[in-house]
Amino acid sequence: MRLILLGAPGVGKGTQGMKLAEFYSIPKLSTGEILRNEVNSKTELGLHIAEILKKGMLVSDGIVEKIVAEKLSNSYGNGFILDGFPRTLHQAVYLSEILQELPVDGTFVINIEMNFEKLIPRLSNRVTCADCVYTFNGDITDVKLMTCPKCGSKNCYQRDDDKKESIIKRLAVYDELTKPMIDYYRNQRCWIEVDGDNTIDFVFNSIIASIKQKIVV
Ligand code: AMP
Repeated sequence: MRLILLGAPGVGKGTQGMKLAEFYSIPKLSTGEILRNEVNSKTELGLHIAEILKKGMLVSDGIVEKIVAEKLSNSYGNGFILDGFPRTLHQAVYLSEILQELPVDGTFVINIEMNFEKLIPRLSNRVTCADCVYTFNGDITDVKLMTCPKCGSKNCYQRDDDKKESIIKRLAVYDELTKPMIDYYRNQRCWIEVDGDNTIDFVFNSIIASIKQKIVV
């Protein structure tokens, strides 16, 4: 099974991706995590893209497409979950081409929909665990005192791009570059849409139910 998670920053793609990965026993591939690791490791690519990430802009299609193509051809043969890719129409068309080459079938595109007004407070209070990358809401002024509810790590932080200026930019970039891509998928059979303004478990159960329904039909 191949699951493609879409939605604006903060809708819960990462959290749902983690739960879906456990449920279906397939790996999750997050382009944001891969790019942040490059920045933290100060690789040549990391140094090149650090400012782009900090400002909340998109890394070029060519760079991200190359990363995804390499990852998908080396592993993920039994299926995978994509979190944060595609993000532009160009990437969506590119992904359709790579998927045709892969042996796994059963693709579902899951769009988690949510009002922008509700995403701003969600993102600006988002805490990330440096050890297991779980994200949760908390008082970010006390981020150093926090414990990750998933793995118990004390190593929690606020992402640079979860600061106010970057959030506004990321949502604007989503509106301009990612939203037009949604129309590419919307009328396809694989399309699933869920309301992200619900509890984590509610959203998760809605996704599972929609997938089951599509498989049966
Ligand atoms: P995320 O963790 O998905 O919120 O991604 C964090 C940041 O990584 C984004 O704001 C972009 O700067 C970059 N990024 C992640 N995925 C992509 C992508 N598919 N295309 C371009 N840039 C990306």
